[in-house]
Amino acid sequence: MLNWLIPQFCPACPPPQNPLLGLFKKRLVRPKDPICSHCSKFFAPLSPPWCEMCGRPLPSSSPRCGSCLQQADPHSIRSMRSLWRYSEEVGRFIGAIKFKGETALLKWAASQTFEHFGKELFSGIDALVPVPLSSKSFSQRLFNQTVLLSKHLSRLSGIPDHLLLEKLNETPPQRELPREARLKNLKGAFRLRNKYKTMAKEGGTILLIDDVLTTGATLKECAQVLKEAGFDDVRAFTLARNF
Ligand SMILES: [Zn+2]
Ligand SMILES: [Zn+2]
Repeated sequence: MLNWLIPQFCPACPPPQNPLLGLFKKRLVRPKDPICSHCSKFFAPLSPPWCEMCGRPLPSSSPRCGSCLQQADPHSIRSMRSLWRYSEEVGRFIGAIKFKGETALLKWAASQTFEHFGKELFSGIDALVPVPLSSKSFSQRLFNQTVLLSKHLSRLSGIPDHLLLEKLNETPPQRELPREARLKNLKGAFRLRNKYKTMAKEGGTILLIDDVLTTGATLKECAQVLKEAGFDDVRAFTLARNF
C-alpha cells in the first residue's frame, strides 16, 4: 500500500547524463500517475481515424488502408489496436518494465487501456492470450510482461486469460532483421500447448496481447497457429505501435 504513496522518478524521462546531478532532472511522480507532465504528451492514446483492420492512423477512417488492401492473403488477424504511438519516451517506459522489473507500471497501462477503449476492445472476445517468451528469455527475466498485462486486462474486462501458446526456440531479435527475414525467422516458433487443444477445437475469438507492434510478424505467426488449431477469429492489442 505504501508503494502507492512514495514518489518515484518518471520512467519515461531520459536517463541522467551525470548520475548525481542528473537525478534531479528526472521528474518525480506518484506511482498512481507514473508519467510526468513533460512526458505525458507521448502517452496520449491513439484514436480514430485509422484503418479498421491494422489500426494504422489515417487521415480518414477506412475499412482497410492501402497496405491491408494489397495483401493478397487475407489477414490472419481481423483487427489490431494499440494504445500509444511508439516514441523514445514510450520505449523507456516499456524498457523500465522489461529490464528493470518495474511491473507495477503494467497495472497503470492496463487501466489506461480499459479507460480509453472501454468495452469496445473486448466485446465478443472469449480469451486474452499473451504472446509467449522463449523459456530462455523467461528464465533471464523471471516474468513475461505480456502475461502480467493480460492478467490486469482480464481483471478489468472479466474475460479469462490463458497462456495458450508456447515459444519453442530462441529466435534472433526481430529488430535486427529485415522485413522478409522476420517472417521466416518465426516460422514454427510458436505452438499451441497440448492442454488447450480441445478448447481450440471449440472455436471462439482470441485477443492476442503484446507490448510493441513493429511489423506484426510475431502476432501474425501466433494468429496463424491459433486459427489452424481451430479458433474462429483472432484480434490483437499492443501497448505501442511502431508505425
Ligand atoms: Zn518524464
Ligand atoms: Zn491497414
